[in-house]
Amino acid sequence: MRPEILNPLFAEVEALKGVGPGITKALARLDLKRAIDLVYHLPTGTIDRVRAPHASQALLGRIVVLDVTPVEVRAGSGKAPLRIFARDGDDNTLTLTFFNNPAWAKRQLPLHQKRTVIGKLDAYGQEWQIVHPEVIDLVMASEVALREPVYGLTEGISNKRMRELALAALERVPQLAEWIEPSLLGRERWPAWRAGLAEAHSDPNSTLPRKRLAYDEIFANQLALMLLRQVARRKRGVPLQGDGRLSGKLQLPYRLTNAQQRVIGEIRGDMAQDKPMLRLLQGDVGSGKTLVALLAMLEAVEAGAQAAMLAPTEILARQHQATLQRQCEAIGVRIAILTGREKGRTRESVLMGLADGSIDILIGTHAIFQQHVAYKKLGLIVIDEQHRFGVSQRLLLSEKAEHPPHLLAMTATPIPRTLTLTHYGEMDVSRIDEMPPGRTPVETLVISDQKLGDVIDGLGRHLAAGGQAYWVCPLVEESEAIDAAAAEDRARLLRCRFGEDRVGLVHGRMKGADKDDVMASFANGDLGVLVATTVIEVGVDVPNSSLIIVEGAERFGLAQLHQLRGRVGRGAAASRCILLRGQQLSETGRARLALMRETNDGFRIAEEDLRLRGPGEILGTRQSGEQAFKVASQEDVAELAPVAQGDARLLLDRDGGLASERGQAARLCLYLFERDAAVGLLRSG
Ligand code: ADP
Ligand code: MG
Repeated sequence: MRPEILNPLFAEVEALKGVGPGITKALARLDLKRAIDLVYHLPTGTIDRVRAPHASQALLGRIVVLDVTPVEVRAGSGKAPLRIFARDGDDNTLTLTFFNNPAWAKRQLPLHQKRTVIGKLDAYGQEWQIVHPEVIDLVMASEVALREPVYGLTEGISNKRMRELALAALERVPQLAEWIEPSLLGRERWPAWRAGLAEAHSDPNSTLPRKRLAYDEIFANQLALMLLRQVARRKRGVPLQGDGRLSGKLQLPYRLTNAQQRVIGEIRGDMAQDKPMLRLLQGDVGSGKTLVALLAMLEAVEAGAQAAMLAPTEILARQHQATLQRQCEAIGVRIAILTGREKGRTRESVLMGLADGSIDILIGTHAIFQQHVAYKKLGLIVIDEQHRFGVSQRLLLSEKAEHPPHLLAMTATPIPRTLTLTHYGEMDVSRIDEMPPGRTPVETLVISDQKLGDVIDGLGRHLAAGGQAYWVCPLVEESEAIDAAAAEDRARLLRCRFGEDRVGLVHGRMKGADKDDVMASFANGDLGVLVATTVIEVGVDVPNSSLIIVEGAERFGLAQLHQLRGRVGRGAAASRCILLRGQQLSETGRARLALMRETNDGFRIAEEDLRLRGPGEILGTRQSGEQAFKVASQEDVAELAPVAQGDARLLLDRDGGLASERGQAARLCLYLFERDAAVGLLRSG
């Protein structure tokens, strides 16, 4: 439960003075529901006030600072406002209008005495008007700040109102003990949390307070991940050490790359420990992760345990099985598959084999972790394409068991280092940074879709020479049905040209079994062209296919394009990727496609994608709702996440229960950023 001291901050906005249902509704549109949301709704910049000698058309609607001399007071009767007429420096008459507090207004604006007024200049009939101006003594006028913090607004809330609300919310900010390592705080010259918040609201352009607040947020993220790690590794795992009797018999037509060798070494090192492994394996498409996974699984089997490999889609699960089955059978390792499609007898026999230990390796989709799937001795879980599984799912996997299995997560999405930190910070990272030898880099062309006819002609020549090709149609609409229809149209066109039986189609609306059938006929060469929506994005391996055409390429993320391009260039033939672009291409759109043409470096592409589109797209977490940062910018994260990780680690090393004074403060920081679940982990342990 959240500590009491934070309750005022987490109160609904209605609790603030003068906030009724109208404002509440308006604030909700900005997702500002509680005082703390307002506190962290930082101004984004400043508005400039204009110091002017007199009112003029050009200043209409702007915030002006004018010297005026009041000449007449017209008191309001009934509900009519008080009006004070004044002359500006050009002898215009200006109406200063007050709907409330007339006595105060009259005192502020005595007749025939020059004053400075500040407010938004309106036209009222023929006259200039300022409603509720701020009034300042001339003496002070030179000190009028010509800048004012501006907030993100919505209809029904003025900037002034938003600022008042922010200030009211700020009053609820309690004094809290410091959670940042004192030496870091000193070195960076950061203000304390409370002072930092106040300063960020009063001076949006000052960088130190903002940095500090960004750091808090990143620190909470890192601390939560480190707690996750602590919990995941608190239970004893089972050390697994192979003797090479199986892996030694593998018949490989090639040698491991140095990178593969290094990485498998790291994995074996982890598996030999009695702490469960938590390792993320990153390697670009085609870098040979499957073999690494197999070696890790054989390590487990040699040590008398079972291994399970989790794939994100059925197609991928079947492909893994097909690849691994051959190798496993040759060395007497028993492998099985379990997806939503295995039913009845087949399913029963798999379940039995898992329970009695006659199955060594299980490949499958998430079906392999359903309730009634019991393993005799599960020692290792491999998750392929990790980015589709969130933090909570990872935790679930290890929480179930008394002795959690070792966990190896693999991803072909090159994840920029900063994102690795903020999303997989609890894991150790291995990278395969080297491609198997003998690959010819894929040649990438960007072609206008006006030349569709030429491209189809080219495809014809490619097919005539015995080649195969992917044709990718984008997911454009929100509706899969419409996208599927577009893909069907394209398939129809290509079938007219190349023949009914040479063109296959897979899309997201098809049943798994049907998709598999089409994939299978493409893989065995019956089909020349595979028309697909992005379902082929991940992992599919057909080495004879050396051409990929991507329609509407500008609509894809760069990382996605890179994945798609990774479908080709797997065989000996020189490969090509044709990016068909639309007519209306923005400047960035052009730059992005140019980058694809220029580089094959997945990490460079990922960094660029991160810069252009934000983390949700790369990690595929937009739907799963893993939260993004509120205060911290991408640059802040890049700069501060490594620092925060070190800080969080150090704190937990010294004080794993977060019981010390600083530990207690850090708990508050977790609550502030709603990492309640992370604190919960602490309790349960
Ligand atoms: P990914 O990392 O994308 O999962 P794969 O494991 O599918 O890559 O490997 C891509 C291709 O490279 C496969 O056909 C595989 O047999 C081959 N391969 C893997 N390791 C090597 C190696 N050391 N030398 C040559 N080819 C390799
Ligand atoms: Mg793979």
